[in-house]
Amino acid sequence: MPFSMDDTITATATAPGRGAIGVVRISGPSAWNIGLAIFRSKSGGLKRIKPRYLYYGHVVNPANSEQLDEALAVFFRGPHTYTAEDMIEIQSHGSPLILRRITELALAQGARSAEPGEFTLRAFLNGRIDLAQAEAIADLVSSSSDAAIRQSLHQLEGTLSRQTKLANDAILRAMAPIEASIDFPEEEVPPVERRNIQQLIQSAQSIAAELLSGAERGRIAREGISCVIAGRPNAGKSSLFNALLQMDRAIVTAMAGTTRDTLEETALLGGVAVRLTDTAGITEIASDEAEAIGVQRSKTALDNAEIAILVIDSSLALCEEDTTAAHMLAEKGYGAARRPIIAALNKADMPHAVTAAALRSMLDAAGVQPFTIIETSAVEKTGLRELETAITQAALGDQFAEHAPIVARARHRDALLRASEALAEAQQTLISGAPLDFVAEDLREASARLSEITGFQVTEDLLTIIFRDFCIGK
Ligand code: GDP
Repeated sequence: MPFSMDDTITATATAPGRGAIGVVRISGPSAWNIGLAIFRSKSGGLKRIKPRYLYYGHVVNPANSEQLDEALAVFFRGPHTYTAEDMIEIQSHGSPLILRRITELALAQGARSAEPGEFTLRAFLNGRIDLAQAEAIADLVSSSSDAAIRQSLHQLEGTLSRQTKLANDAILRAMAPIEASIDFPEEEVPPVERRNIQQLIQSAQSIAAELLSGAERGRIAREGISCVIAGRPNAGKSSLFNALLQMDRAIVTAMAGTTRDTLEETALLGGVAVRLTDTAGITEIASDEAEAIGVQRSKTALDNAEIAILVIDSSLALCEEDTTAAHMLAEKGYGAARRPIIAALNKADMPHAVTAAALRSMLDAAGVQPFTIIETSAVEKTGLRELETAITQAALGDQFAEHAPIVARARHRDALLRASEALAEAQQTLISGAPLDFVAEDLREASARLSEITGFQVTEDLLTIIFRDFCIGK
């Protein structure tokens, strides 16, 4: 990828293939001259062209004045353009051949073919957007769901960048006095306050932690989440499974233990893809090989899922099988923050034999803290909306807001994780009373990792801060 910005680049900006119209972009110092050479409008030459106006004219070969196509063109003046350079966009008929000929004319006038992403790269190199925003543009172009578009737009608007910069600023402010005392030991610098530094590191840590929880939400929004449906035979697991999927996938009969195989299907609940697994038969002793495989699969699903729905038949008093199911979930770590359990008091259309309070104390005894308890009826289809909401809330957390920065890219998540590790190290080093050089080293590492997200020049930032906060060598 060339990093030179002295030359003028050109490329077709619309998708390859035939279209009603196509757009050729030219960006760089000679963009206007090249544009004026190959696009002729009655409005005339350079002096009369106004930026951001749409001009009607013809694309012509300046060598022989031959007209290639009728076209519209917009001229843009840097730095208020996509690339922050002078630009021109020519809209012609969308034949791939015409578009190729137009770029060839631009090339003949001294432009160079743009590399993939080079217009956006220039926007970044010219400081109009940061790396995270550049990536958001790429994500927007390739987004395939509404949620993904919303995420990318927020990132493009700079939510992720702003938070990252806040964390980085705190780190730089923590580093400034340390660096100053290291670099200029003889100079008069304010004494280094360890407590202050600790607080600044702490605030960077909490921003990073919040962003990381956003990373988790981003992953879930993109990849979905897995959810097992557990409970004693005949509680209505398969019925709820079907109701959530809005189709009859699992066979439902009044005979306990009908479902022998694990059923897995994905339902789109509140915009989140939830992979539901019906773990019917898990508590039973298999009487043949097929059943044994089914039970094994259910166990694997239980090992791997992130959320559990514990289905209780509320028309019957709680029994040992309910307790067994609760214990089984507790054993796998469900019912705590990391693996929430949603308890469904099913068959709510029938006379109640179980109250929420009774269920709660049974769960309590089993060591399970339910995320929430919801009354449902798989037959009458009540409480299903609430169940859906509970699943998405358990998956994404309460603070899930469309405006919260969502870290969608693994690259950002990695950088945040490594920055958090370095910050934790810095705290440790600071508390241990070790020399401040070591703390500075950890902080530099944390800052470098965060800077990877936005592509800041860390050394320049740091220098600026040192010289702004202290009058070294006065
Ligand atoms: P599973 O063994 O836990 O998967 O339970 P099923 O989904 O197979 O349901 C067992 C029986 O309970 C079937 O006869 C269902 O029709 C019935 N059932 C399930 N959910 C409800 C409900 O909400 N209300 C009523 N009245 N019956 C239900």
